[in-house]
Amino acid sequence: MIRQYELVERVRKYNPHVDEDLLNRAYVYAMKAHGAQKRASGDPYFSHPLEVAAILTDLKLDDATIVAAMLHDIIEDTATTREEIDHLFGPQIGKLVEGLTKIEKLDLVSKKAAQGENFRKLLLAVAEDVRVLLIKLADRLHNMRTLHFVPTEKRARIAEETLDIYAPLAGRMGMQRLREELEGLAFRHLMPEAYRTIEARLHDLRAKNGRIIKRIEKELAEEFARRDIEAAVSGRQKTPYSVWRKMERKSIAFEQLSDIVGFRIIVGELEDCYRVLGVVHTKWPNVPGRFKDYVSTPKQNDYRSIHTTVIGPGHQRVELQIRTAAMHEIACFGIAAHALYKDSGSVEGKEELAKESSAFRWLQETLELLTHGDSPEEFLEHTRLELFQDQVFCFTPKGGLIALPRGATPIDFAYAVHTKVGNSAVGAKINGRIAPLLSQLQNGDEVEIIRAEGHMPPAAWESLVVTGKAQAAIRRATREAVRRQYAGLGSQIVRRAFERAGRAISDEKLKSALPRLARGSVDDMLAAVGRGEIYSGDVVKAVYPDFREERKPAPKTIEPGEPGWFGVKKSSNLVFKVPGAGDEVDAIPIRGLHGDVPVRFAADGGAVPGDRIVGILTPGEGITIYPIQSPALTAFDDQPDRWLDVRWDLDGDKHELFPARIVATAINEPGTLGALATVVGETGANIDNISFAAHSPDFREMTFDLEVADLKHLNDIIARLRGSPLVSKVERVNG
Ligand code: MN
Repeated sequence: MIRQYELVERVRKYNPHVDEDLLNRAYVYAMKAHGAQKRASGDPYFSHPLEVAAILTDLKLDDATIVAAMLHDIIEDTATTREEIDHLFGPQIGKLVEGLTKIEKLDLVSKKAAQGENFRKLLLAVAEDVRVLLIKLADRLHNMRTLHFVPTEKRARIAEETLDIYAPLAGRMGMQRLREELEGLAFRHLMPEAYRTIEARLHDLRAKNGRIIKRIEKELAEEFARRDIEAAVSGRQKTPYSVWRKMERKSIAFEQLSDIVGFRIIVGELEDCYRVLGVVHTKWPNVPGRFKDYVSTPKQNDYRSIHTTVIGPGHQRVELQIRTAAMHEIACFGIAAHALYKDSGSVEGKEELAKESSAFRWLQETLELLTHGDSPEEFLEHTRLELFQDQVFCFTPKGGLIALPRGATPIDFAYAVHTKVGNSAVGAKINGRIAPLLSQLQNGDEVEIIRAEGHMPPAAWESLVVTGKAQAAIRRATREAVRRQYAGLGSQIVRRAFERAGRAISDEKLKSALPRLARGSVDDMLAAVGRGEIYSGDVVKAVYPDFREERKPAPKTIEPGEPGWFGVKKSSNLVFKVPGAGDEVDAIPIRGLHGDVPVRFAADGGAVPGDRIVGILTPGEGITIYPIQSPALTAFDDQPDRWLDVRWDLDGDKHELFPARIVATAINEPGTLGALATVVGETGANIDNISFAAHSPDFREMTFDLEVADLKHLNDIIARLRGSPLVSKVERVNG
């Protein structure tokens, strides 16, 4: 166990102004508080917080962090209270310890909902003060180092949580060294077989690789010396876990791994990075596509380095990382390397840190998502996605840098700039050229977003974007638009219901009725009426309790010839009958069929030109044509020989019409049917049959059998009907 004076000495090495008295008091206090408690290893419990403090001295952290580390389990495991810690060590340390207590028992690999909620709590505690995260990570590291003492059944959960959450989080904060050790330890516990196999092979290779490493180190050092470049070259074998990841990611065998040796070249000045790169590329051919310049555009976790791969001696692939000593410090220790946290008094430094460290900024932005009421599962999904994904770097036209996960689209870019920009995005220019909004952005792309005020993002975008921010914003905008639409519809229905009842209506009156309808706002209530959840007559009754509704009018059937019955074929009756439907017709314009086989359209729904279609062969009967999206096709899934590849074969001169069926849900009112029929008639389509179903007292479901020219024509009808204020929903039916 580290002695009291040893701990103080470790801190003094990097901080001459160490508060020796504070450290000593914390040491003695924690030792006494934990008393005779023992760890699973049989060691005194106090050895754990002490080791955690020691790990943090390696990161050269401030006194408050070291003291809080020594006290981190004290509220959870002993009788000590927050007030007592505040009193003895000050509120800053008290707050850190309390933050750690809050996240002590969080289970991050349990059922999905709880896991998301817990992850959220973890990030919230950490956002208060990033030092909570640093202590938590050191705590986890020590627990992982001593995991073999813990009962077997508990190990897997802790190791899994480490690999899933804590190691990526350390990486995201730029703390590569800590991340590597956490990963290595977790890998060893979770997949002992894989670990042993890879470790054994790496061990065999060590002798051979050792010679190559020495040789390359020497050759490079000589080249640099000849050019007066000061550079420290060090080579090493990769870790078992990184080898495993590579085997897994590329699904290749160990023998196929060409680069298990990596070199690091540390230089003094920034421009030396590029001089070294020049030397390396002159000496050996580089592998195309492997060069990455994270010096000019750092990673989101502040990592800076030049990466390249060359074909070295003996045709071996050699990976090189080139960076300055200062960049190296950040590459190893990440956010912990930040000068502001090396001294005390860093509370007001928090804002400064936020400005300078993009890793911390990421943390803050992630937390912003929390305030927008996403469900915990959604939140977890987004955040973990972003935790693991690689980055691409793009620029705004003014040269601002926007880092996005790989696979991001201009829509993600727009939302990363601002939610308003995302919501109003209608197009994009990538490097000066108009490009689809769904293009995949590449490193270095300059992206200009074309906007139209008042435009709303289509709901379908949600599944096409990759950033949590864009997903959340699109979902909010869609939800809001749909709600507004229903509220508009509901407002009409309610207004007319009051008119029919001959009663006055006003906002105040509606407001007074809200409690009786169990709704929070008038808008809410109107949207509920629009969705058919509340019957408009009940709203009238809620405002005028004395109101007695007359017998509800029976659904009115409109006969052909009545007013409003436009565009309907006079010959229609309730039989579904269109050219080709159900009948054998030679003239069906389908290609891909031979001989005299009878062909017909599927009876329900039909197919129209523009639909992708398939033919289903029924021996002895003929071929039935279905649109590819028809659910009826599932019945033939297991009979592949009955499927025929067919195509439309249209004669441009003939203006044939084809059967299609749609269902519209519309306000139940006299005149509605006539109005809808007019909309259809205006497009030049025929209505062959209409049938009704009562949906709720306020709505009726109308099924239209139509004859249309093609898919575009059909979609036009659907769009126009959807645009009608009387309609809440229109869908195409495929039989
Ligand atoms: Mn602990």
